[in-house]
Amino acid sequence: LIEVTNLIKSYDRLDVLKQISFTVERNEVVAIIGPSGSGKSTLLRSLVHLETIDNGTITVDGSSLVKNGVYAKPKEIKEITAKMGMVFQHFNLFPHLTVKQNLELAPKLVRKEASGDLEKRSSALLEKVDLADRADAFPAKLSGGQKQRVAIARALMMNPEILLFDEPTSALDPELTGEVLKVMKDLADEQMTMVVVTHEMAFAKEVADRVIFMDKGEIIESDSPAQIFKNPKNERTKAFLGLLE
Ligand code: ATP
Ligand code: MG
Repeated sequence: LIEVTNLIKSYDRLDVLKQISFTVERNEVVAIIGPSGSGKSTLLRSLVHLETIDNGTITVDGSSLVKNGVYAKPKEIKEITAKMGMVFQHFNLFPHLTVKQNLELAPKLVRKEASGDLEKRSSALLEKVDLADRADAFPAKLSGGQKQRVAIARALMMNPEILLFDEPTSALDPELTGEVLKVMKDLADEQMTMVVVTHEMAFAKEVADRVIFMDKGEIIESDSPAQIFKNPKNERTKAFLGLLE
């Protein structure tokens, strides 16, 4: 569903992504792990064109967002990036809108959806993330775990084919990570295609179909969780996982 080939990105003289290539199959859950500064966020942001890459090809569902460094036309870029929903570490909810308004804003503005349909879908999604009773609350009144579940529901309002998560639980108190990981696990069980940058090794082990280990702008190893965690082939992967214990 996603195909990335020879992606290169640098800031000034810092090479952040060096010839990255990987694919994500439909219905697959891919976890990306690696040390701070290895380029995980830059990679994820490149997929939705929050970063512009210097060279390489990114193809989503058969359409190229960028091909050998040349970007598609703005209208196509919009169509391609609309297939992906992104969930950030710091939720990025609109503080002046209620939970329900946060969910309904983008589909209303971008898709001009009728309010009846919006209402139905936002209620159903809030039910799904177990926040039906907080529809009229403002973000400031919610816990971090609740905010992140709102952010996930909001991403789902656009009916994405793929969900991208950038350390969705890193800003949460430990007792709140479970409720967010559960929502993500439910989505995985429903065959949602997901790419998850995470420090939650337990989640990567249990939920991911594949784990990609990145270091210094390169993919060092990509394999099943069983292989990566029990029997990593690369010394850098071993060192990284060893350091976590
Ligand atoms: P973390 O685990 O800390 O989130 P990461 O793997 O997500 O790290 P990135 O945020 O992708 O890493 O950053 C990769 C490198 O690119 C880092 O060295 C970072 O300092 C650099 N970098 C990121 N954004 C910019 C920017 N806007 N300008 C200059 N350098 C940047
Ligand atoms: Mg990051």
